[in-house]
Amino acid sequence: MGELPYFVELEQALDICKRTTLQTVVERVGLDDCHNRILAMDLPSKVDDPPFDNSAMDGFAMRYEDTTAAPSKLEIIGTIQAAGQEDNIFIKPGQAVRIMTGAPLPKGADSILQVELTSTEAGFVTLQQPSIKHFIRKKGENLTKGEVALSAGAFLTPSRVGLCATMGHSSIPVIKRLKIAIISTGDELKQPGQKLERGEIYESNSFGISGLVKWLGHEPTRLHCVGDTLDDLRKTLNSAAKEYDLILTNGGVSMGEWDLVRKIMEDEGDLHFWRVKLRPGSPPLFGTWNNTPIFGLPGNPVSSHVVFRMLVAPWIRNATMANGPHEPRATAKLATKVKSTKDCLTLRRVSIESGKDGLFAHQKIHQGSGNIASMALSEALVILQPGFDYSIGDTVEVILL
Ligand code: AMP
Ligand code: MG
Repeated sequence: MGELPYFVELEQALDICKRTTLQTVVERVGLDDCHNRILAMDLPSKVDDPPFDNSAMDGFAMRYEDTTAAPSKLEIIGTIQAAGQEDNIFIKPGQAVRIMTGAPLPKGADSILQVELTSTEAGFVTLQQPSIKHFIRKKGENLTKGEVALSAGAFLTPSRVGLCATMGHSSIPVIKRLKIAIISTGDELKQPGQKLERGEIYESNSFGISGLVKWLGHEPTRLHCVGDTLDDLRKTLNSAAKEYDLILTNGGVSMGEWDLVRKIMEDEGDLHFWRVKLRPGSPPLFGTWNNTPIFGLPGNPVSSHVVFRMLVAPWIRNATMANGPHEPRATAKLATKVKSTKDCLTLRRVSIESGKDGLFAHQKIHQGSGNIASMALSEALVILQPGFDYSIGDTVEVILL
């Protein structure tokens, strides 16, 4: 073993984490259960979409050449509202059929005019303007049979689940959700709802981290809070390592005497790095405990969220070959002063307002790493490079939350 990488750049931390991989499992689930899951294989369409030429409008179908000298008057020879009704219809010169959105086109028709631009009287329709060819949705214009519309790794958002159904799949091969243990540490922690004694605070990190795990499409379990004793911590880590794919502890990774997660990982675990040049969130560690990957997240609530987003989420996505979910990034102009730091990538919590020259970032809330409201009530994190001084009006990159 070489020397332990200490206080590393975020990129280096991500590289070190990447060397630890996960054995993923593929399972097949029904459409109702595949939301927020990761597609395990390329998914080819079973059908053409649309499967037949159909109308994009409620209106009339006819031959375009009959409508160019508007207003034109055509004879209505039928109505098509559902498949089958077009079978015996052939549009001849001077004729039209009434047609509903999505209904198949009759033979002979090559255009549509929406009902709002027509009037009818005694079996005839009068068109206020020429009919429109692109109001026909052509067979296969969205997807052709066999075409791979979603590739392995796609994160199944609601519209993608709709796309799976459109392609004719009733069940989808997805990556089995990772089972992720969340362990909070600290003698001072009490469960919300209980009465606080002197010196105690409510345990909040595990609830937020649990939400972040679900956001990535995995299965969090909040284990009991561990007090500041090595024995309790060791026991909890041993049993978690047997049952879970990944362990996320929080608290106890700083320099202090009572920072037992750091201590136990140094003495008894397999530690891959400790501390990252990231603010907030410089104390984290990564390694394995009995071969199970473990991130030691900081105890400060904002730090634990930031470290999850910047370090844990990219590693999980990589280890499961997932292409999402990502937070969108954008550029914004600084509307208030924000403070960078000398040697850390610094993330400040800001509100985003949209102005006529683009987005503006306002730092409105006190930025302490213990102040979870600064994260909860903000819309973005501004990314400030180490050693740069930023002024009002500067353009910065932001991560939209
Ligand atoms: P630590 O790294 O354990 O010294 O924790 C740093 C700060 O975060 C301390 O003020 C802790 O009380 C607080 N903290 C640690 N764990 C949690 C938690 N699970 N929920 C809320 N605050 C926490
Ligand atoms: Mg602690």
